Amino acid sequence: MENAAKRIVVLGGGESGVGAAILAKVKGFDVFLSDKGKIGDSYIEMLRTWEIPFEQGRHTPELILNADEVIKSPGIPFSAPMVQEITGKGIHIISEIEFAGRYDTARKICITGSNGKTTTTSLIYYLLQQAGLDVGLGGNIGKSYAYQVATSHHDIYVLEISSFQLDNMYDFKADIAIITNITPDHLDRYDHDMENYVRAKFRITRNMDKDDCFIFCSDDQITINHLSQIVLKAQMLPFSQKHEEKQGAFIRDERMVVKYRESECDIYLQELALGGKHNVYNSMAAAIAAKVMDIDNEIIRKSLSSFQAVEHRLENVLSVKGVLYINDSKATNVDAAWYALECQKRPVVWIVGGTDKGNDYAPLIPLAKEKVKAMVCMGVDNRKFHESFKGCVPVIEDAGSAEEAVKKASGFAEPGDVVLLSPCCASFDLFKNYEDRGRQFKEAVRNL
Ligand code: ADP
Repeated sequence: MENAAKRIVVLGGGESGVGAAILAKVKGFDVFLSDKGKIGDSYIEMLRTWEIPFEQGRHTPELILNADEVIKSPGIPFSAPMVQEITGKGIHIISEIEFAGRYDTARKICITGSNGKTTTTSLIYYLLQQAGLDVGLGGNIGKSYAYQVATSHHDIYVLEISSFQLDNMYDFKADIAIITNITPDHLDRYDHDMENYVRAKFRITRNMDKDDCFIFCSDDQITINHLSQIVLKAQMLPFSQKHEEKQGAFIRDERMVVKYRESECDIYLQELALGGKHNVYNSMAAAIAAKVMDIDNEIIRKSLSSFQAVEHRLENVLSVKGVLYINDSKATNVDAAWYALECQKRPVVWIVGGTDKGNDYAPLIPLAKEKVKAMVCMGVDNRKFHESFKGCVPVIEDAGSAEEAVKKASGFAEPGDVVLLSPCCASFDLFKNYEDRGRQFKEAVRNL
């Protein structure tokens, strides 16, 4: 095979790394995978099945620095010593998405942004499936894109792409690119420079030309400012809840209106399956993509009104003694929690806390004053919450586990109230990840 003489080294043995290694193997490369930490058992099994040599617990320079190209997993920062060494040797580093894109001719709808990626991606996937199209779902969700390209075929892919995944993309091109919004998050990985972070997100528009479409939120000042500084050849399809757009999506008379070329589709806001202002934005982005894909208005309406919320995103768990428990464990930053509070119509007992990413809680104070009757801080270090919300919320207590937090919250809640887990923080102080936090919360609610 023509690739046999070329060596591909994959750094990182998680979902994306193992997927990339399998694709490289299928394409006939000499492949090696190296992970400085421990590789999960299921991934080790996959590597063995596909007969891919690997190492874990170390990076052996002799086995890595002889690569023709390196595929770096998104979790590994540029500052990692091995990445520096690879760069120093002039070896080209690409991302798994870049690599898989080389072997895939499907139409690609790619979604990035600070919040709403998973929801919007899942909505679009659902819409296209309802329309009977042959569509794959990947990127940051489910099975990696590379693994799917290696083992199956789809006409269309809907890909959720985090900014870390965008970092090493060069020739990859989306046919439809979406930036849901841009608010500060993960700034630690971008030298605390917002401009770097914004530029990283805009990499999703690289290589696009006039036949491609760029869908974005025109109410998002950061996106708009950046757009005024760059030249994009793609067709611009903005969405807004503040003003009407000539093409794209906007609100008119309690309806969401979507316009693409000469065609128009509308749906009553009340009919949208996902509640909250933020989900109106997500539904708009998804509906524009569906219009571009030429999907029937009736299917768009039906899909947007029947879509089930994704787990851990404002997920209604259970009503216990008249109190509704909501799992929004994925709200790992201030903006996401803002939208969660904003859409609550009932008094809220709010469970917050976790690993602080340099958060500024000030934007939440007006909503907390208006809606929150008690707060339970579920974290190892809750001082910042106490300092920020003292005097704004009548009761603030601490909890060291999901079980304790749910018990305390249920004590403060009365029939008609909502207990909302929307933590504003990462989960790593008390939990494995946000899914673990959400599941422990749900378990504790079921045990009430
Ligand atoms: P992501 O994949 O970008 O993290 P998710 O769809 O998983 O986005 O949602 C993450 C969190 O952000 C959830 O708490 C959700 O309720 C909230 N959220 C979803 N869409 C938006 C949006 N458009 N703007 C702000 N927050 C949002």
